[in-house]
Amino acid sequence: MAYEREKEVAVQAAIAASKLCQHVRQDIPPAMEKQDKSPVTVADYGSQALVCKALGEAFPSDSVVGEEDASALRQPDAAESLTKVLSYVIELEPTATAGAVLDWIDRGNGQIAPRFWTLDPIDGTKGFLRQDQYAVALALIDDGEVKVGVLACPALSFDGSGSGLLFVAVRGEGTQMMSLGGGEARSIRVGSTEESEKYRFVESVESSHGNPEQQSAVAKAAGIVTPSLRMDSQAKYGAVASGEAALYLRLPSPKTPNYRENIWDHAAGAIVVEEAGGRVSDMHGKPLDFSRNVKLEDNRGVVVSNGAIHDKVLEALAQIDR
Ligand code: AMP
Ligand code: MG
Repeated sequence: MAYEREKEVAVQAAIAASKLCQHVRQDIPPAMEKQDKSPVTVADYGSQALVCKALGEAFPSDSVVGEEDASALRQPDAAESLTKVLSYVIELEPTATAGAVLDWIDRGNGQIAPRFWTLDPIDGTKGFLRQDQYAVALALIDDGEVKVGVLACPALSFDGSGSGLLFVAVRGEGTQMMSLGGGEARSIRVGSTEESEKYRFVESVESSHGNPEQQSAVAKAAGIVTPSLRMDSQAKYGAVASGEAALYLRLPSPKTPNYRENIWDHAAGAIVVEEAGGRVSDMHGKPLDFSRNVKLEDNRGVVVSNGAIHDKVLEALAQIDR
């Protein structure tokens, strides 16, 4: 099997990072959730430190393009924050010191290379603070395409079990889903268009991250009559990959028409859906190119589907765009 060690290291790192994020989230006083973003910062830094430590040990020559860097945390006035980050990291990595944590975080400050990892230590920050969905998203890009993707979604469950879900995909080898509470991984496939109660679409909770009106119109044109399922983070890709939804639409917001998506917001999710039999493209049908820039410079919007309805959705988009 290809990329076996990469898969194993990435899964274990994402599980550790998820635990850290859940520990931080359990400690957020309810009254603080809305205004105070500091829990996010602590969890972002802690999650990136754990994942980059694991990758650095297993694959010392691989570059990691992560969302965070430690420059703010290195300032003298950040000593208290650093102590807080360390207190969470040390629970999962007893060898950690303040200096090591800073260095681990900065391992994620790497450049695009022929082979590199991309990491969103907490995708769906707003969901994390709202006690809704969020994800730890990690992907390996090698030789021009995503080869391994891991999405840990600690707050996601489709059957009410509540322990969170992890999705993992390796190019050419399918997608598996497992409970973050332990147990066997099982192969998953996208849903067929006939399963009517799951013939629905997912979109962001944050309406400013998309174009909800256009998204509804396109879904309707593809024959989707049920209201959307709104979810933060790349958990949306997990919903499509496991057949819980047929479509995920993310069209450019009219308020930010020049916004370009970050690679770490989509790389892991994209392979998870593709290897489950689905399709991922931009709104014009162009493949997402993760290999060249930190941003998807040449792509506009994102369309993720069960595959079967993809062309129909792109046609509907072309009509609306005209
Ligand atoms: P979601 O949870 O799906 O709403 O997506 C969260 C991600 O949206 C964050 O990681 C941000 O990088 C990204 N984001 C921020 N601003 C925008 C925007 N104007 N359009 C699309 N995505 C955005
Ligand atoms: Mg993100």
